[in-house]
Amino acid sequence: MQEGFVSYQSSSSEDLAAQQRSLEAETEGVANSQTLIEKAIHWFQARSMFVVAYGTGCGAIEMPPVFTSRYDIERLGVVGVATPRQADILIVSGYASLKTLRRIIRTYEQMSEPKFVIALGSCTINGGMYWDSYNTIKKLEDYLGVDMYVAGCMPRPEALIEGFVKLQAAIRDQTLEPGYVRYRDNYDWYRHNQEKVLGKNIAPQYEENYAGMELS
Ligand code: SF4
Repeated sequence: MQEGFVSYQSSSSEDLAAQQRSLEAETEGVANSQTLIEKAIHWFQARSMFVVAYGTGCGAIEMPPVFTSRYDIERLGVVGVATPRQADILIVSGYASLKTLRRIIRTYEQMSEPKFVIALGSCTINGGMYWDSYNTIKKLEDYLGVDMYVAGCMPRPEALIEGFVKLQAAIRDQTLEPGYVRYRDNYDWYRHNQEKVLGKNIAPQYEENYAGMELS
């Protein structure tokens, strides 16, 4: 697992509560050199997460309870949003076929920075039960910059909530090397991997679509 990444281990609700308490205690003690304004900005950023309403694989079934009355993640400042252009978080919620990967990349590239990716379920980490499938990807990190893995098949809503809590702590304390920075800095590598499985014609092709267009 890459440095800075955290995976979820399934546990009873008491264990989960204990883990969350220890996580909060750890992050409270993080000494950093942020100014008061920076601290406020990062706190607000962590507490106002807009998640693009997009689901793939089995996690698309597990996510609705998280965002509705049963688990009500809005109390933590996490809400769904209909368009990637206003979203901060993309959840890739399970196996991704090559056909779906094309849409995932398009969605991700339409989101503005700062943006974060949560990979939900074993299929996003190592292919899971589809590891030898001829048309699903094995490792999401080869194609996008992933910020948080929530392991399991399928992780329960509590696991996804813990993933959000950890991601919020990392954003608030600036202890994360953001995936979008990795993606931007190593774009050629990611693009090479994308083209290896999807061919050259990966949307969006901004240069080709707008080449020769006159702006009015
Ligand atoms: S990890 Fe399991 S539950 Fe999730 S998409 Fe893969 S097979 Fe489905």
